[in-house]
Amino acid sequence: MTYVIKKLDAHSKLKTLGEVARFDVCGFPSVFSGKNKKFQRFKFIYPAVGKKGRCIRLFKVLQSNVCEGNCFYCSNRKDRNFQRISFTPDELAKLFFQYYSKGLVDGLFLSSAINRSADQSEEKMLRTVQLLRTRYGYRGYIHYKVLPGTDESIIDAAARLADRLSINLEAPSANYLAELSPSKNYASDLVGGLEKIARVNRQKPLKAGITTQLVVGAAKETDREILNLSGRLYRGYKLWRVYYSAFMPILDTPLEELPPCPPLREYRLYQADFLLRGYGFTPQELVFEKNGNLPQDHDPKLAWALKHEDKFPVEVNKADFHELTRVPGIGRISARRIVETRKQEKFTRLDQLKRTGAVTTRARNFLTLQGRFYGGGEVKTTHHINEQLFLWEEL
Ligand code: SF4
Repeated sequence: MTYVIKKLDAHSKLKTLGEVARFDVCGFPSVFSGKNKKFQRFKFIYPAVGKKGRCIRLFKVLQSNVCEGNCFYCSNRKDRNFQRISFTPDELAKLFFQYYSKGLVDGLFLSSAINRSADQSEEKMLRTVQLLRTRYGYRGYIHYKVLPGTDESIIDAAARLADRLSINLEAPSANYLAELSPSKNYASDLVGGLEKIARVNRQKPLKAGITTQLVVGAAKETDREILNLSGRLYRGYKLWRVYYSAFMPILDTPLEELPPCPPLREYRLYQADFLLRGYGFTPQELVFEKNGNLPQDHDPKLAWALKHEDKFPVEVNKADFHELTRVPGIGRISARRIVETRKQEKFTRLDQLKRTGAVTTRARNFLTLQGRFYGGGEVKTTHHINEQLFLWEEL
C-alpha cells in the first residue's frame, strides 16, 4: 500500500488526527460519543474529571495516523485506504498551546499510530511534550500513550514530562489478542510494556498514575476474563484505572461485519470495575451469567445482593461501613454519612436515610431501620447510563 501524505496546514491536520483519535486503540469508550453536547464543537476535545470533581477539557490527538500495524479493528491499519497525516512536533506543540492559551482546553492526551517503529513514533511525541514543557512553559496535564515495543529509556523520559502514562493491553489474553492484532506480541509488547511503565512509576510515581484500555466485544472474550485481568492489574501493577472500549465496526477493516458491542455491556463492566476499585469486591465475588458475562438486567452490585440473601437485610444503625457499602443504593459517600450521622441520631425513617444520598427506592429492600423493614416492593434496577462513569480521566 502506498501512502499519500498530503501537505496540509496544522488546523486541517487537527480535524483528521483529532477525530480519528476517537477510533484509535487509545480511543475512549464509544458509548459516550455524541452524548455530551458541550464538547461537540470541536471533535478533538473530550471531557474529563479534574481535581475536586471539576470537569476539564482534554485536547486529544494523534501525532500521526501512519501505521505499520494492521490490527483488524483499527481505522489506522496499514491496509486501509484513507488519508495519512502526521504532525511535526513543532506544529503540534504550537497548535495545542494556541488552544490552551485561548482557554479552550485544559490538558493534552497524546497518542500516535506506529509510524515506522514504536521508538521513532515515540521520539516525535516526546519532542512534542518537551517543546510544550520548555519552549512554551506549559505546566498543565499531559496523558502520554506508550506504544507497544517502546524502549524503556523513552518511557523513562516521558515519565519525567507527563502526568499519566498508559499502554493499551487490548485483550485479556494472547489468544484473544491474536484475533485483534496479528503483529503484536501480548507478553513482550503489551504486558512487557506495562511492566516497564510500572517500574518507572514505582521509582518515581506519576502524578496521575498509569492506565490501560481493553477492547470489548470483538474477540468473544467474556466479562469474567476481562474483570479477572482488571483485578490482577489493580493488585499487581497499581493501575489507576482500566478503561473498557466497546468495539465499533469500522468500514474497510476485516471486522467491519462484526456487530458492535452493546453500550450496556461496556457500562456494566465499568460498574463492576467500580466495585473492584472502590468497594472491596474481588472478581471472584462478582456474579456472572452462564456465558461468563455480567447480567445485563441488574447492575453488578444488585446482582450480588440478590444472590446473597443471607447477608440481608442489614440494620443501618449497626452495620459497619463495609456492610453498608454492599447495600444496593448505598455508595461510599452515603455509607460514610450514615456512620457519621448515627453518632448523633438513630435512623428510624427512610427520609433520614435519603438525606445521606442513599437511593432509598433501591436500598429499602435490603435494610432495616431500628428493626423495621420498609421493603417488599419490586427491586428496581437501572439501565440508565450515568455519564459520570464515563468521565474517564479522573486526574
Ligand atoms: S498498531 Fe494497530 S491499533 Fe495501533 S494504530 Fe496501528 S493498526 Fe491501530
